[in-house]
Amino acid sequence: MRIMEQILAANKDFVDNLPDKYVHYSADKNKLPKRHLAIFTCMDTRLVDFLEPAMGILRGEAKVIKNAGNCVTGPFGSTIRSLIISIFELGVKEVVVIGHLDCGMSHTSSQSLIRKMLDRGISPDAIKMIDKQLGDWIDHFHHPFHNVEEVVQKIRENPLIPKDVPVHGLIFNPHTGELQVVVDGYQSAT
Ligand SMILES: [Zn+2]
Repeated sequence: MRIMEQILAANKDFVDNLPDKYVHYSADKNKLPKRHLAIFTCMDTRLVDFLEPAMGILRGEAKVIKNAGNCVTGPFGSTIRSLIISIFELGVKEVVVIGHLDCGMSHTSSQSLIRKMLDRGISPDAIKMIDKQLGDWIDHFHHPFHNVEEVVQKIRENPLIPKDVPVHGLIFNPHTGELQVVVDGYQSAT
């Protein structure tokens, strides 16, 4: 079976035998994040089904925003947009940026990515259009700790984000589940 067939088969079985905890969960009531928290983290597969339990965060308690290497690109990029909606429309009062050890973003470069894109038939003209942005994004990511510090700063300094929202920075260990504080957002929120 291909992956979509596996997913649809699993889904039929899941829906037919929906566990009690989902049957009794009121999705409407829990649309707003109960802990008033937005988590911005990496799309790394090892974080799936691991990061939230390691934080004591349950379904319905936080908004979770993910991308490659938890990077913020531009003052009104998709992460900032999601944070604006979370804060102004969904009652989020605190933001936590979570990078992780051994992040794939620190092992790649724009040159190696461009090579792979060209090999797969992506047009050189298309790559030329994003060449500089690609470098500013990927080659700028050296270490998950520094990235978390920088992303916290970018969010804090964004004029669209209220100053009274604490923005914390943490690093997650994808092997042990341990969290380490890099930036204590309570120190700088007003
Ligand atoms: Zn990562």
